[in-house]
Amino acid sequence: MRQLDIIHGGGVAIKKGKIVGVGESNKIKQKFKAKKRIDARGMVMTPGLVDPHTHLVFAGTREQELALRLGGASYKEISAAGGGIMSTVREVRKAKPEQLKSLALRRMDQMITYGTTTAEAKSGYGLTLLDEIKILKVIRDLNRSHQLELIPTFMGAHVVPEEYTHKREDFINELVKTMLPEIAKRRLARFCDVFCEEGAFDIGQTRKILNEGKRYGLIPKLHADEFTHTGGAELAAELGACSADHLCKLSEEGIRRLKDANTVAVLLPVTSLFMGIESQGLGRRLIDGGVAVALGSDFNPGTSPTFNLQLVMSLGCLLYKMYPEEVIVACTINAAHACGCAQDRGSIEPGKIADLLIWRVHTYTQIPYFLGQNLILKVIKKGRICLTGLQVANNIRMT
Ligand SMILES: [Zn+2]
Repeated sequence: MRQLDIIHGGGVAIKKGKIVGVGESNKIKQKFKAKKRIDARGMVMTPGLVDPHTHLVFAGTREQELALRLGGASYKEISAAGGGIMSTVREVRKAKPEQLKSLALRRMDQMITYGTTTAEAKSGYGLTLLDEIKILKVIRDLNRSHQLELIPTFMGAHVVPEEYTHKREDFINELVKTMLPEIAKRRLARFCDVFCEEGAFDIGQTRKILNEGKRYGLIPKLHADEFTHTGGAELAAELGACSADHLCKLSEEGIRRLKDANTVAVLLPVTSLFMGIESQGLGRRLIDGGVAVALGSDFNPGTSPTFNLQLVMSLGCLLYKMYPEEVIVACTINAAHACGCAQDRGSIEPGKIADLLIWRVHTYTQIPYFLGQNLILKVIKKGRICLTGLQVANNIRMT
């Protein structure tokens, strides 16, 4: 992850939305006749950023919880007072698909200005068959309406909804027997994710849900070892999960298992910061332990209200002690692996989709260094310029 293949004075040839040539600019110019040229002299080009963990489709915001936490309230107390994931579930259940779609479209307009060209998006704020289908259909619809591409994940096991508080096993049965087969039959998701945590789903329940998901062709992902050590990383390895996410409290054994299983660790530093979860140096531990690390935003209304992957990269350095090269790899090719789409994106190689960014920096090490700024000059999606600097500046709307 410390090695970027950098071409100084490089050029990229694009045809029909795909990369057909990469090399020194002079050689590319000789080899290909271009109808149109984009001059990026003095700047940096990288692959488009891939966000491997978002809860993009939701209604309502939860800014009041910030003050409650500052006053010392715990996650549990906030949930008990009517906040937390369930409060977003209530909003999403009330919302019409068109409302969810229009909210998500505005967010995607902004995400792409920060350089995100592909993102994973989870359901999990519906928690009934119909509401989960509603969210996943909105995701499918968004894919047809926006340049930013979404990869759908079914996360019916986000939390046990309040109507099942005293009959948790019934909810798990509903998930396994009704929701999973129906979601799979309608081909609405590629992955199945479970929040494996105290108060959400324990190891046994998580194993059961993800194994059932596998039977229906849904690839497992886990929210693992976030607030407490539950052994979620070990379970991710056991199941051959595509990714294990959060991991703030994972054990040394968990690191070894993830490495051996080739499971990508998706780290979400904004959430750690926002929730005050002690996890300094987490990226360093995992990378030194031989695990492939990706970084994501965890964009959601409760614990990470940002989709800015440039901020995520800076925090990857500052909180998780990753080097600039590593955070760039973590938000491009490794993030693509965590979304199962590395075969056609995440790097600048012939045959891949031409998702490219031109940055207003002189060297890539300035990307995580200029903390909190939007450094994108141009976004190229499938070979077409879809945003320039001026539009980036004008594209800030109310969320
Ligand atoms: Zn999440």
